[in-house]
Amino acid sequence: MRLWGDYHTHTSYSHGRGTVGDMVLAAKDRGLKEVAITDHGPGHLFGVGIAHLGIIDRIKEEAKLWEDRTGVRVLVGLEANVVDLDGRLDVDDRSISRLDILIVGLHTWVRPGNLPSLWHFYLQVPIARRVRSRRVRDLNTRALVRAASRYPVAFISHPGLHMDIDTQLLAKECRKYGTALEINTSHNHTTLEYIKVAASTGVDFVISSDAHDPLRVGDFAKGVGLAERAGLRPEQILNTRPAWEGKRP
Ligand SMILES: [Zn+2]
Ligand SMILES: [Zn+2]
Repeated sequence: MRLWGDYHTHTSYSHGRGTVGDMVLAAKDRGLKEVAITDHGPGHLFGVGIAHLGIIDRIKEEAKLWEDRTGVRVLVGLEANVVDLDGRLDVDDRSISRLDILIVGLHTWVRPGNLPSLWHFYLQVPIARRVRSRRVRDLNTRALVRAASRYPVAFISHPGLHMDIDTQLLAKECRKYGTALEINTSHNHTTLEYIKVAASTGVDFVISSDAHDPLRVGDFAKGVGLAERAGLRPEQILNTRPAWEGKRP
């Protein structure tokens, strides 16, 4: 299975190790036609996220420069954080409209949008990591579904990492909104069962490296292996196409 674009990568504008140029050159080396720069949203604490949304302008300038130099198409995006249980993100609509691609994920250590989400993300979620909780899982899932219903979300990053989710429900709802689910090769949490359960709903997938280092751009092997073992067909995976055809802002 040949994949043409890596749609989830981080630079030193968030907590990655390469510049925009390093990531685009790496994409060219790996023979990719497209790469998306998707740094963490500004709500991510302790310097993990971009410092402010104005950084998007800088990334866009650099992306254009490196696109012209290399011939690799560069999409400028963001891996936004869900900041409350209603699925609100740490990025405003105006900034979203200027992106080429919007990824949404649940992460720990994010500035909570309100008191109930502070309670949920900083107390209930850590407890649920020790004692499984159906209720916490439902709230996590619902927050992602609401984000997909509110915003033009291309795909959900690493579903189930950090926070438990109901795969079947998330996949079914995401399919409705045209949002894909990720098979992430950076973390070792993706299971065959997750792919099979999600695939049964007809949702689309994206395999991505989530590279935080130029060396990992286009590192799809683990994800392709899992997808093939789960019996996915190329047409179920968006990056088998030469250009991004998934949801856009
Ligand atoms: Zn992430
Ligand atoms: Zn990421």
